[in-house]
Amino acid sequence: MTTEFSRPHVTHFGYKNGELTVEKVAVSAIAQQYGTPFYVYSATAIRERVAQLRTALSDLNVQICYAVKANNNLSLLKLLVGEGCGMDIVSGGEMHRALTAGSPAEKIVFSGVGKTDDEIAAALHHGVHQLNVESVEELDAISRVAKQIGKVATIVLRVNPDVDALTHPKITTGTSKNKFGIAYSEALKAYADAAARAEINVVGIAVHIGSQITDVTPYRQTFERVAQLTKDIRAKGLTISRLDLGGGLGVSYDGSAGMDVDAYARTLRETLGDIDCELTMEPGRFIIAEAGALVTKVLYGKNQGNAKFSIVDAAMNDLMRPALYDAIHPVWPVREPAAEADAVRVNLVGPVCESSDTFGEFDNLPALERGDLVMLGVAGAYGATMSSTYNARPLIQEVLVEGDHYKLVRRQWTVEDALLLEQDL
Ligand SMILES: *Cc1c(COP(=O)(O)O)cnc(C)c1O
Repeated sequence: MTTEFSRPHVTHFGYKNGELTVEKVAVSAIAQQYGTPFYVYSATAIRERVAQLRTALSDLNVQICYAVKANNNLSLLKLLVGEGCGMDIVSGGEMHRALTAGSPAEKIVFSGVGKTDDEIAAALHHGVHQLNVESVEELDAISRVAKQIGKVATIVLRVNPDVDALTHPKITTGTSKNKFGIAYSEALKAYADAAARAEINVVGIAVHIGSQITDVTPYRQTFERVAQLTKDIRAKGLTISRLDLGGGLGVSYDGSAGMDVDAYARTLRETLGDIDCELTMEPGRFIIAEAGALVTKVLYGKNQGNAKFSIVDAAMNDLMRPALYDAIHPVWPVREPAAEADAVRVNLVGPVCESSDTFGEFDNLPALERGDLVMLGVAGAYGATMSSTYNARPLIQEVLVEGDHYKLVRRQWTVEDALLLEQDL
């Protein structure tokens, strides 16, 4: 068998003196202090991702609105607010989190296909930058609410460009088969309709074609359609001043290339460089995925037929992506494997009573024993935010590392916390 052991391929994660570290902190030290499982994030890795985007896009004057749904931990949102990011939200709850983190309302973009009247009212009350409207019925609801509370709603129309993002079907959003946006062919009519309403200030269009996109071609097709629609809108004598280009920039889960941001920037420059609109983008995964990981401990080993299982203390409720999307997260042993050790084939599984509670089969790990720690890498995005308390498991702790410091940024949400909602009613 191969002895090419799995090793971190992302920055700020690596071995030092035989120990896996995040920045300058040994993972085992965090585990010792707080217990397992936990999510861990590198603040420096997050800052560097924002800086990388800023540098690539520096001549384009693009506002980065971080997609809160990728990871909404308050400390991470504060960090991103501090880096000057706006926020892209998809619910009233995310608005609450963004505002609590100190995000100015004027930097919040409210996306989402099913906003309730209460969420619309709250957004207008706080004065968010814009509501991204996904249907004519939603436009009607916004009109109604805006009139009721005596406000003018600033909106953009989310258009479905009918472009295949060439990614996983469950994270494709920009084809005519998806529930998202207003059909491209109906967008001009909807824009004119919105422009005719006194309580609506329609200022632009938005697109978001999917997630984990690693090829610029779908972006080029989308931006060309956006440019065309912008021209069509202006040709009708209507004004348009904002374009929201969505998120979706892919990352590297396995060491292969993620999105090339310079190629993305070039595509943007070539298609929309002289469009004379304010530009916004909404990256989530790109900013946070590689900066985060899940640390878990081996509870048991067992052999079943020819298969070898390692049962760990993290499960599908903590990190749902493998069960939901067949995603594979790389697994890195916390103790560096000895060069001469043999790799074994092992199924890494959690304790939850579902056969889908598996992180996958790996053939690049050393033999794992009870008590060994492993890290599931590239788990900063759509990890903690998708977690649940299935099997009455707690929501796990989150730890933020910066340099040689680390701190708890979410304590465990225990079964006692849960019972408070159900007792003495
Ligand atoms: C989910 C989402 C994003 C972020 O997607 P990533 O792939 O994480 O960059 C951006 N905009 C909208 C409207 C979304 O729904």
